[in-house]
Amino acid sequence: MFDADFFRRWMTATAASVEREAERLTALDSPIGDADHGSNLQRGFRAVVETLEKEEPGTPGAVLTLAGRRLISTVGGASGPLYGTLLRRTGKALGDAAEVGGQDLAEALRTGVDAVRQLGGAAPGDKTMVDALVPAVDALGDSFAAARAAAEQGALATAPLQARKGRASYLGERSVGHQDPGATSSALLIAALAEVAG
Ligand code: ADP
Ligand code: MG
Ligand code: MG
Repeated sequence: MFDADFFRRWMTATAASVEREAERLTALDSPIGDADHGSNLQRGFRAVVETLEKEEPGTPGAVLTLAGRRLISTVGGASGPLYGTLLRRTGKALGDAAEVGGQDLAEALRTGVDAVRQLGGAAPGDKTMVDALVPAVDALGDSFAAARAAAEQGALATAPLQARKGRASYLGERSVGHQDPGATSSALLIAALAEVAG
């Protein structure tokens, strides 16, 4: 079972990973975007950690809804509302239980990913974060390690794709050959989950 502290540690581990990888995320966003993905997420997850420390939400659902709201309010780029929606909707789906099981988490995360797909209109293969998130939730029923591997594989597999959503889509065929920054950061989010799950 996973309690509020587990979800807080997930967010903290994600923030630490974003700090370590911010330059790489921004570099990936340079040829097919506006070179701000790392700094966008850095600003967002710093604010998330700060808010979680201050407000001390007491349930898994409250941790994720608060984190999601904070991302939406601090990140101006496309990724803010999308990641914010992912966490907020996952949190809402977890309800107000003090502890949740692995199955509950997998189902809630599926609800969150569906909300991202609805908000952004992206399907798998459009070269977005959805390409890492969908395989991750599909594999989460097996294990956290499988979800992590699936997300990393999904992110790598965006490189040969032509972008059909977001800024990168403006480049048309010239978006081919570059790994998507948002899919890469989504793999970090799932890797952080696997890390705290041990
Ligand atoms: P911006 O493009 O506004 O500068 P970021 O650079 O922070 O925002 O985030 C870009 C990432 O957001 C992309 O790499 C992609 O994964 C994701 N993204 C953009 N548009 C969409 C969308 N419509 N649906 C899903 N993900 C998207
Ligand atoms: Mg950008
Ligand atoms: Mg931007």
